[in-house]
Amino acid sequence: MGGEAVVEAGPAGRSLGFIDDVRDGLVKGWAREAGRDAPARLTLRHAEDPPIELLADAFRPDLAAAGIGQGRHAFAIRLPAAGFDPGRLELRLADGTRLRPTPECIAAWRAANAAPDIEALLESPVTRVLHWEMTRACNLRCTYCAVSQPGYAGADMDLEDFEALVAALRARGVRTLMVNGHGETTTIPGWHRRILALAEAGFALGIISNFARLLRPEELDAMARIGSIQVSVDTHRPELLRAIRRRVDLGNILLNMTAVRARADALGLKRPDFAWSCVMSDQVAPDFADYVRFGLAAGVTAFDVCNLTRYPDLEGVAMPEHATTLPDAGLLRFAAALEEARHLTAARGVPLSSQAGLLDTLRLELARRGLPAAAAA
Ligand code: SF4
Repeated sequence: MGGEAVVEAGPAGRSLGFIDDVRDGLVKGWAREAGRDAPARLTLRHAEDPPIELLADAFRPDLAAAGIGQGRHAFAIRLPAAGFDPGRLELRLADGTRLRPTPECIAAWRAANAAPDIEALLESPVTRVLHWEMTRACNLRCTYCAVSQPGYAGADMDLEDFEALVAALRARGVRTLMVNGHGETTTIPGWHRRILALAEAGFALGIISNFARLLRPEELDAMARIGSIQVSVDTHRPELLRAIRRRVDLGNILLNMTAVRARADALGLKRPDFAWSCVMSDQVAPDFADYVRFGLAAGVTAFDVCNLTRYPDLEGVAMPEHATTLPDAGLLRFAAALEEARHLTAARGVPLSSQAGLLDTLRLELARRGLPAAAAA
């Protein structure tokens, strides 16, 4: 299924690429980033697996013949065949451009998968994972967040047709619901009743929450039914956390985590998995390894590092800067902390993922300053 595709060179100034073979967990294709003939940097996401970063750097004669750089833009990556679902595969270039399957790939995939309810690869009427942004409002004003910018207006989604929405999601075969977007779900009046209804409807639930305030008993009942809870925690240092995220108490976060687990025990439910997400900045980068150590001690089972988007200055606020603006000694310390964090998490079998671009930017900055890039290998 899905032989080597005929490729045509696109406009040189545009990122381009395709998935041209998907078979038994082996995904093949090619990609080129706008304005770069260097190997393209890709992030692959499949189902709820941790993202994989890869380079499209293999030579393919048809690419060279089509004028796609020097032809060194192909990739092939094998995922575990068991549980592999092409419909839940997503490949993006570092600039966010999504790779689509070629028509030949779709035709081959259709031929091999005669499932009548699937129209085309990545054009499925079935939605397995859905992110549901019930609100854009938040009870915090983190210094680096768009929510803190003047003019930002948060709003709750109109949930009057909640039952109809839930029925539609079930009809589409949604299995996993991430009940958050940009805002904080726990600010919605009666949010916990929505969660209980979604759990009752059989969805596997996930949430990102700031855990800024202590949850009430009825809210703990709901939170205990969410299998995967990602808590936004940038640093384990209480004062610094308060300075960055404002109005956040690390004690509340840890209390909520413990109370949710205890509530799950009381209800006879599997305890939720807790992940911590950290927006990486110059303020938290140098002691990232200690942060991971602290999180592991608190029972965190996954870490997610987000790249900082720098919004305009806020009055009277020490704005976090991108970690790569650190002076040489701080930058090297950050690279060493990342490496140490990788070892710490690997030793415990805990995933540590980072958004595309962060590590590349770090490597590029180390190289630009003539500092040893091995620290960010
Ligand atoms: S908790 Fe999240 S959404 Fe709210 S202000 Fe902070 S970063 Fe923004």
